[in-house]
Amino acid sequence: MSEQNPQKPRALGIFSGGLDSMLASLVLSRAGVAVEAITFETPFFGAARAQASAKHIGLPLRVAQVGPVHLEIVKQPDHGYGSNMNPCIDCHAFMFKHAGQVMATEGFDFLYSGEVLGQRPMSQNKQALATVAKISGFKDFILRPLSARKLPITPMEESGLVQRELLLDFSGRSRKPQMALAAELGVTDYPAPAGGCLLTEPGFSRRLKDLLEHDPSAGVAEVELLKHGRHLRLSPVAKLVVGRKEAENRALEELAGRLPPGKVLKLHAKGVPGPLGLYLGPAEGEDLMRAAAIVAGYGKAQPGDTVTVRVSGGRELQVEARHRRLAAPLLL
Ligand code: SF4
Repeated sequence: MSEQNPQKPRALGIFSGGLDSMLASLVLSRAGVAVEAITFETPFFGAARAQASAKHIGLPLRVAQVGPVHLEIVKQPDHGYGSNMNPCIDCHAFMFKHAGQVMATEGFDFLYSGEVLGQRPMSQNKQALATVAKISGFKDFILRPLSARKLPITPMEESGLVQRELLLDFSGRSRKPQMALAAELGVTDYPAPAGGCLLTEPGFSRRLKDLLEHDPSAGVAEVELLKHGRHLRLSPVAKLVVGRKEAENRALEELAGRLPPGKVLKLHAKGVPGPLGLYLGPAEGEDLMRAAAIVAGYGKAQPGDTVTVRVSGGRELQVEARHRRLAAPLLL
């Protein structure tokens, strides 16, 4: 699939590693196009799935690290969210825009994706596909090989760069045509349809929504923190994250070092085994004392015991260990 041939048109695909993006690449390749692909890495999704799928079909793949810029889109998407915190229209448009800039600098002829008309009612209907193409700024360079014959003809087909009759007419939610095509093209190893993007998960989305409401300038490290431990909202200005097991304590320790200086205090009960707590809030006062009491309560101290809690920076707080339920924070 990767052979260079100066006669062949070159296309760059946005590639999630899902079956549709694999098939779109293979269909174009079969139609005589030299395909390469790009995938994206952010705090919300990684590149591992795309890398495995690309390897399986011999597709040259590059990875773009776009965490901070993608996060700004997630914070304020012009076209809103799906059923969770997934801004799919703006996200897809961003991916095409990024890929379009690569196309322009590296001499690709057009872009493609594995989108299927009607597969996702909100983000892949005809209107949504047109909106994505328009706001990406590369409308006339986007081809969706799996649904092309259900969509308006593109300049690539009109000019003969790709023959329309070699493209497909898939639409709707059924996966059967894709599975049949996968068998025909020898694709035996592909991931399950859903998954791969934390923004579509209700639990993660709840935490993210809380973060963005209370800390609109949060960066990538604050988002990474959402993936570990119990998250307790103590007040509008204070949050506590408590490790649930040793591996999480280690992850929290590492992330504490990536947060802006002064943003987080580490809390640890002294003399009794217990978890690491990361406290984000005012460095004095009731919220901090409550956080320390909860961290003590998650350790081996009995509720009501007086415990010394060490605070990063050298301070020590004397608190009465409290069970989380009695301390009444909101569990995110
Ligand atoms: S599911 Fe996630 S990665 Fe995919 S378009 Fe939506 S927000 Fe972007």
